[in-house]
Amino acid sequence: MAAALHFVLVPLLAQGHVLPMMDLARLVASRGARVTVVLTPVNAARNRAVLEHAARAGLAVDFAELAFPGPALGLPEGCESLDTVTDLSLAIPFYDALWMLAAPLEAYLRSLPRRPDCLVADSCTPWTADVARRLGVPRLVFHGPSAFYLLAVHNLAKHDVYDRVAGDFEPFEVPDFPVHAVVNKAISLGFFQWPGLEKMRRDMLDAEATADGLLVNTCAALEGAFVECYAAALGRKVWGVGPLCLLNNDPNTMAGRGNRAAVDADYIVSWLDARQPASVLYVSFGSMARLFPPQVAELAAGLEASRRPFIWAAKEAAGLDAEFDARVKDRGLVIRGWAPQMAILSHPSVGGFLTHCGWNSTLEGLSHGVPLLTWPHFADQFLNEALVVDVLGVGVRAGVKVPATHAALVNPGEVLEVQVGREDVERAVAKLMDERPAGTALRARAKELASKVMAAMAEDGSSDTDLKEMVRHVVELAQEEEGMVLGAGELVSKKMDNAAASH
Ligand code: UDP
Repeated sequence: MAAALHFVLVPLLAQGHVLPMMDLARLVASRGARVTVVLTPVNAARNRAVLEHAARAGLAVDFAELAFPGPALGLPEGCESLDTVTDLSLAIPFYDALWMLAAPLEAYLRSLPRRPDCLVADSCTPWTADVARRLGVPRLVFHGPSAFYLLAVHNLAKHDVYDRVAGDFEPFEVPDFPVHAVVNKAISLGFFQWPGLEKMRRDMLDAEATADGLLVNTCAALEGAFVECYAAALGRKVWGVGPLCLLNNDPNTMAGRGNRAAVDADYIVSWLDARQPASVLYVSFGSMARLFPPQVAELAAGLEASRRPFIWAAKEAAGLDAEFDARVKDRGLVIRGWAPQMAILSHPSVGGFLTHCGWNSTLEGLSHGVPLLTWPHFADQFLNEALVVDVLGVGVRAGVKVPATHAALVNPGEVLEVQVGREDVERAVAKLMDERPAGTALRARAKELASKVMAAMAEDGSSDTDLKEMVRHVVELAQEEEGMVLGAGELVSKKMDNAAASH
């Protein structure tokens, strides 16, 4: 029998991009393929547990570790993931270092005994496109953000809307969109749209336009219309294969997902076991977003005044007064460091999620039927908020208006240290966790959506079907390449072997 398909996955080195790619690796391997994820030493160490879990499940997943050239560009040793780039001035050197991984990736691929059948590269790693082309490897683009965001940004650029508006906060409607959505430039700029990143943006759009297909971490139940319109707008195949987080459905994969948790997951689970169903608010701003200390203080005061149980994954201790933990100890748990987020969100005692609306966090909440209190910071997060609140009807806005990146990069004088005051927090939490009809209806909608989302990932659901189609497409692409060197008879038999190996 011909060898099983070999996929090589290249994530952007950021938690919100590596984690879904690790899930995708296990999903693709579960179809009989062999999967290699390209990482650097620090990222590989953080995700070693996934390899062990995959091996226990009999899945062929491994890592290819490339040395990260960051120190040569002035980055501190060990700074190999965007969540460790806390100084904005280091963001461009970080991306420059990523672009330098092209040569080692090519050397690695050339060193393999057999050319891989497919490279799946994060849309933010467009430097992989030339490598794949030089080696004749079919290439798919993996998108981290929502299809809602992808389509909106695509249409806004296509219609030159950004160039026509008078100011960053002038409202406009997204053109050619399946729903009525009003945004502004500040909240809808896509990735790589800041001064100094122009070449990266061009590379990203080129790599997207020339890909052999695109994968989005979403499903028809959440974003069917947006996926379809996006595929039509690009004129390419787009498969919705998520939410990939649903592959983490046992304590082993949930507890150490992405990093070693700062608190024992078993302790958190028993803390949650002692609470009423749907009574606990989980608060987290993901791996990168940070609040100014005065904003931390307002959030803390609002949580305290809400009188509801909460778990707060607080990266930023600055702003929390020394007695806060003691004052709320009967009903509040503050995690300083990495939280076992999936273990928390999948627990029935959690009834609300105050989130920065990173797409993974959004999916993780919605997949578990948890309504969201939305507090976006930058990138795709404001558009994810619009999807959750205005389209899906499963969220409540905290009321953030100015992206952190706008304040930091466009108009430093404008820095708004507090965008959501303590009363706003208290009000929004009460609305989200409300036990009266409005809150109950919100929770019911979230539960209903979650059951549709789970069905999408189950056998023959929309995401399962899209995954199968993607694998079939890769088999065909691999054969087209081989057809140039194999005779017709050999090609047909190999086609069948490969298809069998991939199902
Ligand atoms: N995450 C986690 N523990 C933390 C912070 C984040 O497990 O303390 C995970 C979270 O579950 C999600 C990812 O890190 O899978 C963050 O991705 P997201 O897209 O939500 O936000 P980003 O960090 O990229 O802004």
